[in-house]
Amino acid sequence: MNLRTNYPLGDYNTLALEACAEAYAAVTDDGELREALSWARERELPVVVLGAGSNIVLAGNLRALVIHQQFRGIEVLASDEQWVRVRVGAGENWHELVRWCLERGYYGLENLALIPGTVGAAPVQNIGAYGVELQSVFVQLHAVDIADGRDRVLDREACQFGYRDSIFKRGLRDKTVITAVELRLSLSPAVNISYPTLADWFAQNPETEVIPETVFDAVVDIRSTRLPDPTLEPNAGSFFKNPVLTPDQTREVAEKAMGLPIYPQPDGNLKVPAAWFIDQCGWKGLRRNGVGVHDHHALVLVNDGSNSGVELLSLATEIAASVHDRFGVDLEMEPRIYGGEE
Ligand code: FAD
Ligand code: NAP
Repeated sequence: MNLRTNYPLGDYNTLALEACAEAYAAVTDDGELREALSWARERELPVVVLGAGSNIVLAGNLRALVIHQQFRGIEVLASDEQWVRVRVGAGENWHELVRWCLERGYYGLENLALIPGTVGAAPVQNIGAYGVELQSVFVQLHAVDIADGRDRVLDREACQFGYRDSIFKRGLRDKTVITAVELRLSLSPAVNISYPTLADWFAQNPETEVIPETVFDAVVDIRSTRLPDPTLEPNAGSFFKNPVLTPDQTREVAEKAMGLPIYPQPDGNLKVPAAWFIDQCGWKGLRRNGVGVHDHHALVLVNDGSNSGVELLSLATEIAASVHDRFGVDLEMEPRIYGGEE
């Protein structure tokens, strides 16, 4: 195991925030993972699991062993005429997996193209985009318990998936290292272009046949145009989750929010776009103290040179307070905060 101490993490988070880990170990297999976990246990040091760092905010140095999950490998476990089941190492790149599956005619991941990060992090927030969530193809995952090194297998029910949510953000938060994910993909090309932005793209390109390959291309095209590239403008994607409100709450908010888009959910609740509130409060495009709100996308906060998680969180807190004061809506941050006071 190659363990480093006082290790800088600036290159390992897409916000490019500067912070050091008390200890850091990149793990590529089960043996290295177990060695790293024992090392942390002996020193009573908390463990933080790191993927590609695209959904975290480093607010200060971490008194922890950061375990950088780098398990590789994609394996076909089983297939019949209709389905194929694949097992993927947690350290594989998510977008490369989407592409790999499409090249082999394994369908279902196209709408989730170009989401940054690793396969192992995908269940943590049940990644979703353009009307599809991970849970629609998820079978089970393999994990190792941080406290006692026990192997665990969690199926879809055990993961308790919700909207950008799972048990790994709640009951199993900081308790497991996900090592592999199993997905069930279709061998027949079903597509879902019900999401408005995607439907619009095909309406504007009427000559394009609607097949999984073109859905993939369309998602890549839309995302590349709309979302800032973290390598050019360091960011962590959507900084706040879209609030899901009860019908009564929605009525109350809508009275103060003329023109608010409202999206009904299957359970009767209503989802409202966090970006709309932030935009209404006048934050879009603001820059200060080396952090800011993206000019075209009010949900995306950017590191504009400060490299400070504290500055970024101070801005996020002010944004949330202004939305609360004006509309009575509480915004919840999506990325996980590490270091500082947490
Ligand atoms: P990290 O940021 O490294 O970790 C995130 C959390 O997961 C941490 O708490 C970490 O401890 C935990 N974790 C990571 N790996 C493991 C593991 N193996 N075992 C246990 N816990 C683990 N998200 C969406 O859902 N939809 C989108 O469309 C989307 N678009 C994005 C666009 C941009 C430009 C960016 C920067 C981010 C976007 N995100 C999106 C957020 C992010 O890409 C996802 O949440 C992604 O799954 C994070 O992967 P990661 O490997 O970077 O995780
Ligand atoms: P968009 O298409 O401009 O839509 C804005 C918001 O409205 C989205 O957040 C979306 O919710 C919601 N929405 C729009 N139409 C909807 C419908 N018919 N039904 C339900 N909800 C609807 O969004 P965008 O910012 O460009 O992002 C496109 C997709 O990529 C979205 O799915 C978004 O979640 C995803 N994305 C996520 C992140 C992240 O970090 N989590 C970053 C970038 C993009 P949903 O978010 O629930 O889809």
